Amino acid sequence: MKLIIVVMMMVAVTIASLPIHIQDIYADHYAQRRWQGTRVDLCYDSYGLSYLRIDNRTNQYTIVKQQLDITRNDWNNQPSRFTLRLIGGQYCSNWVYAANIRDSIPDTVAVAILCISNTCDYDLSRLPYGYINKAMIYFNTGTEWFTTRECSPFTTGKWTLNYVARHEFGHWVSFKHTFGSPSESVMYYAYHCDSRNSVKSVDSTELSNIYG
Ligand SMILES: [Zn+2]
Repeated sequence: MKLIIVVMMMVAVTIASLPIHIQDIYADHYAQRRWQGTRVDLCYDSYGLSYLRIDNRTNQYTIVKQQLDITRNDWNNQPSRFTLRLIGGQYCSNWVYAANIRDSIPDTVAVAILCISNTCDYDLSRLPYGYINKAMIYFNTGTEWFTTRECSPFTTGKWTLNYVARHEFGHWVSFKHTFGSPSESVMYYAYHCDSRNSVKSVDSTELSNIYG
């Protein structure tokens, strides 16, 4: 009798731990596609970015820059050696732009594009294997951007710029989307405040796994 209870308890423990294991998620990246070094020099296109409407006004490049810096520093402040460094534009090949992208990619408010061996794509699974040698992010000029925490963009039309930027910079380091719980990774596939408000520990760990 005692043995049956023990076996039943073991089964119960196994079942109880099973869903947790299934839900365990980890950030993942596109294998064999990464930057060669641990530092990416990038530039903000101040002219184009001043066209973004943020907090109901255009010509707010200073505010846009603050938003981009918040998210860039969030990635930089992780234990990984990897750094996104802002430099002057003269010798820059990696850019953050603003443009009307909804005509070419419907229902998109921002897109990250990576280039490997002269092939550039926003669908990173189509890239060849190799080192990333060029990257871009485009923020849509027809989108209503905000510095405030906006969590229902599909009903309100309001998007938090640093939240969207944080996810796009994740694509820059070759991260894939995650489909687990939103709060576990900034790379959750859909816009969600609990996902986009910070770089999560699984993201940080994966960054260290790739770049040290
Ligand atoms: Zn994405």
